[in-house]
Amino acid sequence: DAMLRLSGVKKTYNAGRSNEVCVLQGVDLELRAGELVALVAPSGAGKSTLLHIAGLLDTPDTGRVEIAGTDMTGLSDRRRTIARRQDVGFVYQFHHLLPEFTALENIVLPQLANGVARGEAETRARQLLAQVGVVERASHRPSAMSGGEQQRVAFCRALANQPRLLLADEPTGNLDPGTSDQVFAALMELVRGTGLAALIATHNLQLAARMDRVVELNHGTIAARPKSD
Ligand code: ADP
Ligand code: ADP
Repeated sequence: DAMLRLSGVKKTYNAGRSNEVCVLQGVDLELRAGELVALVAPSGAGKSTLLHIAGLLDTPDTGRVEIAGTDMTGLSDRRRTIARRQDVGFVYQFHHLLPEFTALENIVLPQLANGVARGEAETRARQLLAQVGVVERASHRPSAMSGGEQQRVAFCRALANQPRLLLADEPTGNLDPGTSDQVFAALMELVRGTGLAALIATHNLQLAARMDRVVELNHGTIAARPKSD
């Protein structure tokens, strides 16, 4: 069954003004549970807009957003925020970890905010760190870690509350190619162990080809892209 379903999603900025820009013109996209999908888009095509709408940070003008069968379209801002915290994990090009906290705390804090007991939160944080190979960095602050380690911790934080949907915007775009490959493999490993669906925006077509499916956002709509190119 679909973990994420976007149907007829449209988004226009500055509607009716001279600088009107129609970014999404009817996006249809479905991600099944456990599916890892690459999103490829030229710069300015509306990739961020699409990820924000799928992740409940923004709303479409028209169309539907469903996560795990629940229609999120008509929710109040408050309900949408609650749904986002429970259902969606984000990773960006830069880690956005809290600099004054350790790696472990960065993964524990969102769980505490979600009502998880500290002991349980710490156990889960250590398990996640171990899965991506950086458990020995648990007590380090972000500034004491390499870029690749920081991104691994950011993945763990995104998965801390067991979301149904992982959205990543160029998650390895800030890393050198070798590190990027390793960090990407760690991400796939993490995601494979869960039933979540992942939509990962990337310009790296080699990494994209390692995912289950590649879709392309162009001229405001989504099209399948042959895996081989
Ligand atoms: P991408 O992530 O693919 O580069 P974006 O979704 O950030 O694309 O932006 C798509 C288009 O919409 C761009 O032309 C951008 O300038 C415009 N845009 C994005 N956000 C806004 C906004 N808040 N107001 C007006 N225009 C915007
Ligand atoms: P503003 O601060 O203007 O209200 P947003 O709340 O949309 O704007 O946040 C600004 C940016 O921060 C967003 O474009 C998004 O990339 C990021 N962001 C906001 N809230 C979250 C969140 N809960 N999880 C991840 N990223 C977020």
